[in-house]
Parts: sequence; structure tokens; C-alpha cells
Amino acid sequence: MENYSEDREKFVIRRTCKNCQNINELEITEREAAFEEIRSQKELNWNTPCKKCNSTSCTSLSYPFVNYYKKEIFEEWKYNEKLHFYCQDEDIILADIDNLDNILEGIDNEKTLFCKKSILLETLCVLLYDNTFYSDEFNMDEEADRKLNAEILRPELIKRKDKIEKLGIDLGYISDYIKEVVFPQIGINKLKT
Ligand SMILES: [Zn+2]
Repeated sequence: MENYSEDREKFVIRRTCKNCQNINELEITEREAAFEEIRSQKELNWNTPCKKCNSTSCTSLSYPFVNYYKKEIFEEWKYNEKLHFYCQDEDIILADIDNLDNILEGIDNEKTLFCKKSILLETLCVLLYDNTFYSDEFNMDEEADRKLNAEILRPELIKRKDKIEKLGIDLGYISDYIKEVVFPQIGINKLKT
């Protein structure tokens, strides 16, 4: 377990060669690992020749886990429109109920860039969706947790209904399948743009 925790402190890109299965590693900083625009520019990528056999075919390229809500990382994200954790589905990646306070702070903070507020409002909708969409796959304990989460989330969305409406309807960033589950719960009637 000691090795495991040591490993978690390091931020390493791992590229596995398709030809010889050799694993090339590159240590980067946590900040570099956090932002897609930075980590994708590092010298170890999909096309880097293998150090052992020089092949450029790669079977996997993995990036380290980063806590996107770590203070300095989340702060930089909120105020920099050029940096993203992921350029696609960032709202889904950020949907973590344990970080609800950070999400709400980011939405209500005057200084947060509008484009980042939009993503955090989407994130809030994703969270309520995750905890309220119908499925018979959940067991009783899971259902109880989802119900509790939904009761915490729903009033926070209702408080920010105008912002969500502006974002979801005028700008149309929220997917229809999420609108269909979330909007009726918070008193937004229009489901289509
Ligand atoms: Zn190789």
C-alpha cells in the first residue's frame, strides 16, 4: 500500500507500445495533468516513437487522476477561458456531489467567467439528473442515497433557476435528455430551444 500512495503523489503519462508492449512514462506536474490544453502538448503522446522498439503504434495512452476541485487548480480554471480539464463533456467530469459547495461557489462568484459558470450550471443539472432519472438498476440503499442527494440538490437548482433557464434555453448547452428529467422538477416548462 505504501507504493500505491507514493504512486498517487506522482503525475505520470503512460504510453503502451502496440508492437512490444513496453510502457513509456513521463512525469508531469499536477497542473500540467489537470488541463487538456497543456497535457496534450507534452512530449509523450499517441504518436511518440517507443523508446524500446521505435514503433509509433500505441495501444493506450493514460493520463493521471487529478482532483479538479483542488483549490489552486479550480481557481485557475474559473478565471481562464483558455484552459479546460476536458474539452468535451466537462460538465459530466465535474459532476461530483461531494464538491457541491465548490460548484455553487463557482456559479455565485461574480468573478467566475461566464463560460465557466455555464459549465458549472450544466454540472448542477447533470447532478440532479444522475440522482433522479428512473432506473430499476439501483438497490434500496442506492435509491435512498439518490433520494437524499436529490433533496439537497433540488432547492439549489431552484434558487438558480433563472441562470439555468438562460443557459439551457437561450444558449442550449444542456442536453435534451437532461432537460426532460430536470426541468419539470425545478419549474422550468420549456423543454425545447
Ligand atoms: Zn515498442
